[in-house]
Amino acid sequence: MTTKLKLLIVEDESAILQGLVDVFIFHGFDVDSADDGKIGLQKALSREYALILLDVMLPHIDGFTICNKIREQDKQQPIIMLTAKSSEEDIIMGLTLGADDYIAKPFSVRELVLRVNTVLKRSELPGYATPILQIGKVEIDTANLIQLNTDNPHSFSRRELDILFFLQSHSQRPVSREELLEQVWGYKQADVIETRTVDIHIAKLRRKIEIDPKQPKYLVTVRGEGYRLVP
Ligand code: CA
Repeated sequence: MTTKLKLLIVEDESAILQGLVDVFIFHGFDVDSADDGKIGLQKALSREYALILLDVMLPHIDGFTICNKIREQDKQQPIIMLTAKSSEEDIIMGLTLGADDYIAKPFSVRELVLRVNTVLKRSELPGYATPILQIGKVEIDTANLIQLNTDNPHSFSRRELDILFFLQSHSQRPVSREELLEQVWGYKQADVIETRTVDIHIAKLRRKIEIDPKQPKYLVTVRGEGYRLVP
């Protein structure tokens, strides 16, 4: 028998919570839940979950705070935020705090299951076998998500490394935002908010890998096409 992957779902609306618990049990997960931020945080910090689904608006402690506290302890814990609305501010906030993905309510269950599986599969993407990623003078320890050989190392999110790996394995050509969303995020059809998400990630990456983020030498924009990583 294979061991089931364990999920934690933190959601205070009981109808949504019960629905999610049922769906993920149906899809073969071992599911734990919390309907309150305080209990959710305690459980989340136990480090026993393959992935955490985290609502934003919760009693006692909100989802952003929980995400932040998890990241202080564990940079690798996969987290998907359930945002109440597709507000760009919420999304940016969630991603800045280190969530791996977000999904806006109301969401389709099929899409949520797909996102969960995409985040869980990420460690199998090509490139993850390479422990050190080098871009220009920047060397990144991809297991520990941190820059090497510098006094002030930048840390990287898994999503950021996925973007770099994908661009690196296609460095002979520019890659469009839509392709990145499809291949790295696992989205089927991107909307405007989502393509903006790509730009936010690229801007963050440039601040970490470029000497002058305003004049990028490695992670360049190809006008009308997308982004390219110059080898
Ligand atoms: Ca809520």
